[in-house]
Amino acid sequence: MIRGRPFLQIPGPTNVPDTVLRAMDRPVIDHRSPEFAALTRELLPGLRRVFGTHEGAVILYPASGTGAWEAALTNVLAPGDRVLAFNYGHFAAGFAQTARDLGYRVDEVPLRWGQALTGAVVAEHLARPVTPPYRALLVVHNETSTGVTSNIAEVRAALDAVGSDALLLVDAVSSLGSLPFQFDAWRVDVALTASQKGLMLPPGLGIVCASPRALAVAERGGSPRHFFDWRPIVRDNAAGFFPYTPATLLLFGLREALRLLDEEGLEHVYARHQRLADGVRAAVRAWGLGLLPEDPATCSNTVSAVVLPPALDSDALIARARERFGLALGVGLGRLKGRVVRLGHLGALNELEVLAMLAGVELALRECGLALPLGRGVAAAQEVFLQPAVQVATAR
Ligand SMILES: *Cc1c(COP(=O)(O)O)cnc(C)c1O
Repeated sequence: MIRGRPFLQIPGPTNVPDTVLRAMDRPVIDHRSPEFAALTRELLPGLRRVFGTHEGAVILYPASGTGAWEAALTNVLAPGDRVLAFNYGHFAAGFAQTARDLGYRVDEVPLRWGQALTGAVVAEHLARPVTPPYRALLVVHNETSTGVTSNIAEVRAALDAVGSDALLLVDAVSSLGSLPFQFDAWRVDVALTASQKGLMLPPGLGIVCASPRALAVAERGGSPRHFFDWRPIVRDNAAGFFPYTPATLLLFGLREALRLLDEEGLEHVYARHQRLADGVRAAVRAWGLGLLPEDPATCSNTVSAVVLPPALDSDALIARARERFGLALGVGLGRLKGRVVRLGHLGALNELEVLAMLAGVELALRECGLALPLGRGVAAAQEVFLQPAVQVATAR
């Protein structure tokens, strides 16, 4: 048994701040009481700020990101509807598979794992008209399996350029609250996330943001659904209630997590993630190892997928880090199993915690037989953290 702070450095669930834990350590209240209604009415505008929307409706479920996928799809798509998806990682593939399992017709374009979804690729696949036309485009903003962030503004511009009226559905599970997200400016139709990543909460909430256009589609269409149906939720939320028993204590935690994001300022939160990720990337370079993203400009500021030498199995490295140091690192998912180790650097995290994680990874790499001088990666990150922090304008 390793005493002291456990190092949870997987890309979700992330570390939960003490004040968030304390906010949830309270008696469960009546979810039909005025006190509860006041809580709901505070949370929804707070979440809208994080999504970057004035017009969108935020919908909360006792679920996870996978449930939010199903909610997003079943509210805006009718049985048999055709959608376009791109396979550029484990979660992009999972979103597409969810759509297939639900009976939609999915055209899934294979990309390389490590590629970003670019506007050019989207435009190329939308250029030839299909019958029936695409009703939706499925996109993962930050592909957690490869450590690649795609540019949603570019994807939106590609949709506009070809005159497609497909709805833009964006998985923002490992980006929201850690990377800039502009629901209104990018004219996203449905964005979705979960509580256990950038929002610094335990697992248990699936969260969706729907545009007025998506709400209108859902109002008169969609697929057979009950639990995930937006209509009764939006109706009851207006008075601060839910048509089912909500995850009461998680919602108290969410209030505190939103307060923490607001206190730091979202622009500062994003700048901190940039800085921490720069430190991690400097360490990986100093180790002489590579990152999976093909274009360095698309490297994620929330997760780094480090490619190991063929002789070193990442599952063995991860087991060593766990057993020796109580350090949890992310495994290679799907076809990346054994090949990459994913370092999570999102949510509640600071420079010293990143340095400790890097020190642990270095030790584990050495113990697994990689000839690497100790301290080199840590020192490279320290050099990054010596640089003055970038000043950001705080827009409140
Ligand atoms: C974690 C994650 C999911 C899945 O969410 P669950 O909460 O595990 O169901 C979906 N998409 C992305 C990009 C993720 O990182």
